[in-house]
This record gives sequence, structure tokens and C-alpha cells, in this order.
Amino acid sequence: MGMIMVRCPQTGRSIETGMEMDAERFQRMPVFFSRTYCPHCCIYHEWFAAHAWVAEVSDRERIALA
Ligand SMILES: [Zn+2]
Repeated sequence: MGMIMVRCPQTGRSIETGMEMDAERFQRMPVFFSRTYCPHCCIYHEWFAAHAWVAEVSDRERIALA
């Protein structure tokens, strides 16, 4: 299980969408469109699944420690 992440178009920082999914399942999903609140810009960004990725928990921990 991982967290679906998107890149903030304004700051280039990654944002947690709050949606959790297996990376394998995410890759099999049809293209979809969503919007996520960006804590960096304090606004909602719209994004396509093609621009998102799944961060496994271990990756998130590694980022947090970096
Ligand atoms: Zn942003």
C-alpha cells in the first residue's frame, strides 16, 4: 500500500493526495482526473493520474529522514 503523490506545479514539491493504493493497482487504473489541496500554495491543484505516482511507505520514511 502506498500514498498517491503529485508534484506541485508552483513549488515543484511533492504533495500527498491522501489517497492510498497499491502501486500495481494504480498502474492498472484508467486515466482519471482529481484535485488535491496543496499545503505549499494553500490552494487546490488539479492533476491527471498520468502525472501522479505511488510512494510506498518505506519511501516516505526515507524522504522524511533525508
Ligand atoms: Zn502547490
